[in-house]
Amino acid sequence: MTALPLVFDAPRRGKPPRHLADLSREEARAAVVELGQPAFRADQLARHWFRGVTDTARMTDVPAAVRETLAEALLPDLLTPVRTLSADGGRTRKTLWRLHDGALVESVLMRYPDRATVCISSQAGCGMACPFCATGQNGLTRNLSAAEIIGQAVAAAAAMADGEVPGGPGRLSNVVFMGMGEPLANYPRVRQTLRALLAPAPWGLGLSQRSVTVSTVGLVPAIRKLTEEGLAVTLAVSLHAPDDELRDTLVPINTRWKVGEVVEAADAYAARTGRRYSVEYALIRDVNDQPERADLLGRLLAGKRAHVNLIPLNPTPGSPWDASPLPAQREFVARLRAAGVPTTVRDTRGQDIDGACGQLAAADRVEGVPTVAVPAPSLEPPVELGAEADG
Ligand code: SF4
Repeated sequence: MTALPLVFDAPRRGKPPRHLADLSREEARAAVVELGQPAFRADQLARHWFRGVTDTARMTDVPAAVRETLAEALLPDLLTPVRTLSADGGRTRKTLWRLHDGALVESVLMRYPDRATVCISSQAGCGMACPFCATGQNGLTRNLSAAEIIGQAVAAAAAMADGEVPGGPGRLSNVVFMGMGEPLANYPRVRQTLRALLAPAPWGLGLSQRSVTVSTVGLVPAIRKLTEEGLAVTLAVSLHAPDDELRDTLVPINTRWKVGEVVEAADAYAARTGRRYSVEYALIRDVNDQPERADLLGRLLAGKRAHVNLIPLNPTPGSPWDASPLPAQREFVARLRAAGVPTTVRDTRGQDIDGACGQLAAADRVEGVPTVAVPAPSLEPPVELGAEADG
């Protein structure tokens, strides 16, 4: 596919140090050999790291004399927890992470009776500038490295395995890319992350394809690229409006790729993978929650392999954007269902933060802490999709 220029900026401040999880298995084995160790040490390091073990004293299968050297070279600390906040009796845990250059990102672990889901960030900030989104107001700081993204999932898996979440030791079952950032704007690192999430131990978390959800605001060339990857992870498209006139204002990237193109790309993904895609729609009072827009959305998606997930907006303090009232929500759902479109409404407890990109920062409201402030981006020239130099 021809590399298409994207319209957002990808500042390159603070490239993180090299980490095992940024490398392929072959590259990691070569790196270990360069350090004078047998290649299988890379597998040993991977086994520890993907289990959340960072204390070299616990890496007892690696000779004590070389543990520090190997860890310094390949397992640098990338994510430092700044604080962890809990809701829902401890079953929802949000962690604020500081990256090596001071950038801040969040991830949220949510334990349900039948599953445990972590919502992870793929960028520090976001360059998509959706006006209703707290993250979007501060711009993009930088892309995260693959290891920084994977590390959020590894930390969640370790927290579950160690029994840190009420309910006893358990297993992380789902990962959703619905934290800070537009995942497909950080394509190479997100692709590397997907490989690691799906790979069996020691080089991954062994999750199933359907348990991993990649969301996008509609970067059509990147959706097409994902379609060609041969993966079958769940695709979630954050539509938020069924018509271009409104979506141009709610989701500015729509001025580049229109509703019809986004849905067409999602349809092609569904056709290739056999998987239904999810349409995320933040219901905003008097903005996109009118009955006629429900009908329009219904006509747009009728007969497609699509499922609509309505998310009553999490308003941020001082924002003019508000959630739709319940009667409007019910009317919207009824009209979509009448059009034959499977529709659900995200529940409104802490867990609703896994429902849409950019809602993570806004979700602070649920737990009563301020929205994370991400530094404004420095500006660099637009990058090209597929270029590996933007991280
Ligand atoms: S809603 Fe999503 S894509 Fe839009 S600015 Fe927020 S994080 Fe970015």
